[in-house]
Amino acid sequence: MSPRDLRLRLVCPCGHTLDWVVPFGGAGPERIACEACDEQRVLEAGRTDEDGGLWACQVCGHAELHSRKDFPVALGIGLVGAAALAAPFTAYLSLVAATLIDWGLYLCMPEVVVCYVCEAQHRGAAGKPRHPRFDREIAERLKYGKKAVMGRPMREGGTADAPEPEH
Ligand SMILES: [Zn+2]
Ligand SMILES: [Zn+2]
Repeated sequence: MSPRDLRLRLVCPCGHTLDWVVPFGGAGPERIACEACDEQRVLEAGRTDEDGGLWACQVCGHAELHSRKDFPVALGIGLVGAAALAAPFTAYLSLVAATLIDWGLYLCMPEVVVCYVCEAQHRGAAGKPRHPRFDREIAERLKYGKKAVMGRPMREGGTADAPEPEH
């Protein structure tokens, strides 16, 4: 597996988590089959460019995606927990250290790009185009359609290189 391969994770309607690798430069396997319930998904091919940039969801083809840090919450909680235990012996400096380490780790963590529609997670995509962080307006428009009060229409090209949401 090359570091530029695209790693997909999606949750099957049956609740089983599927992990899938789409080799860099290749269209990848066309079908993903769930081991638990035999549900088949057909992968949308051609959603990445030759540099490994992701232009749409590889699973459902929707062009609106958001980025978030791929930070394991358990790790952050574990660090703070350990620091809290050590606090009385370190004049509480351990808590300061844990906060700094948490922050540092957070900054170095790679990003995961998530589809608004099917919530497929994409790891290993190139940084360009960049998809901004989660935008509630997009999520609400997709969920409620025309009934959404704040339904801003989809930008041409989806969220690729879109500005960060203002709120
Ligand atoms: Zn399943
Ligand atoms: Zn999708």
